Amino acid sequence: MSTLRITGGRVIDPANGIDKLCDVWVEDGKVAGVGAFKGKATETIDAAGKVVCPGFVDMHVHLREPGQEWKEDIASGSRAAVAGGVTSMACMPNTQPRLDHAGVVRQVVERGREVGLCRVHPIAAVSKGLEGKELTEMRELVRAGAVAFSDDGRPIWHAGVMRKALEYASTFDFLVIQHAEELGLTEGGAVNEGWISTQLGVSGMPAAGEDAMVARDIMLAQLTGARYHVAHISTRGAVELVRQAKRQGLRVTAEAAPHHFALTEQEVLNYNADAKMNPPLRTEADRQAVIAGLGDGTIDAIATDHAPHHEDDKRCGLSCAAFGIVGLETLLPVSLDLVRAGVLTLPQLVAKLTHVPAALLNLQAGTLGAGRPADITIFDEKARWTLDRDRLFSKSRNTPWHGREMTGRVTHTLLDGRVVYADGNVLG
Ligand SMILES: [Zn+2]
Repeated sequence: MSTLRITGGRVIDPANGIDKLCDVWVEDGKVAGVGAFKGKATETIDAAGKVVCPGFVDMHVHLREPGQEWKEDIASGSRAAVAGGVTSMACMPNTQPRLDHAGVVRQVVERGREVGLCRVHPIAAVSKGLEGKELTEMRELVRAGAVAFSDDGRPIWHAGVMRKALEYASTFDFLVIQHAEELGLTEGGAVNEGWISTQLGVSGMPAAGEDAMVARDIMLAQLTGARYHVAHISTRGAVELVRQAKRQGLRVTAEAAPHHFALTEQEVLNYNADAKMNPPLRTEADRQAVIAGLGDGTIDAIATDHAPHHEDDKRCGLSCAAFGIVGLETLLPVSLDLVRAGVLTLPQLVAKLTHVPAALLNLQAGTLGAGRPADITIFDEKARWTLDRDRLFSKSRNTPWHGREMTGRVTHTLLDGRVVYADGNVLG
């Protein structure tokens, strides 16, 4: 029997109300205890001066496999994940083929297990081919391993289809995740609509495009009683709509991506395609609203929307460049800014990165409860480093943070008690 002792760290396990300096004990891949333990360690990790917490749960990742493995695959995405402290990730269905039938969902699950670095949980398509017309076989997809439903990359644009999806999902308590975008207002847009889009001479995507879709969906959530989740919320209006929906007691939740609380549309002023994503970076007022939403609990979780793209899809002018940035390896340092700014306490931040998203997806993850799989992240809150896109574990380089100084770094990631990442190296 192997017994690992992680010693001397600040242990933060928000699901169990723990925030104290103590040891974490791991026995045969499971958490054996936090604090005192009557065992003898066969291995030790010194975590003095560091934070020890449950492995992060990222509920919004694009892994590009099957179909676009030159951008990312499940192996490279898993390496990027554990380098970022993520031990469970949910991957979106806009692959080729789409994750809209059981066979391909099963393949993704199996490939994730084979790689064995990070738990990979597919989010299956709401509609066949992500076309927004005909619903997929949701129950069959769940049996194959899907943990939620979305047409992400695209909105579930048709109100009738969305209503049916929510009705069906509510019967089985499935979560429906919306990429909230009213295409009638946003199609052809490259950046946020406003003075910057005008100045650059590129088409804009108005905040109203997101607000309108979230408003419609909240009506449908009320009509159906379903669990509805807004992906990558980015506008002041949408945050306020979710806040009101929660006050009404609706089962409406939301996630924010680090870029939307860290950056604004200013980033695209020099036509930087690595700051082009969908939804786009917005105004400072929107950014502040997202921060306020995180602070008051309107926004439940933080998720990366990790969206790897090859150089060729980015270096073709702002209007034609693909949407999205890689995010797994910058998740922690960018999110820690919320703690440094006093918006969240460290335990509150860890909650939004662990047990809260796990609960939304019904995953048995995100806590250090005794007997749970020992998925653990250890990080140095104060470590300073400079992001070099050529040293990312992801296959893609599309990050707006290249060359920027980061504060906070993951030092160890454990999956099932096994060290899968330590001090810059992915192991196994
Ligand atoms: Zn999306």
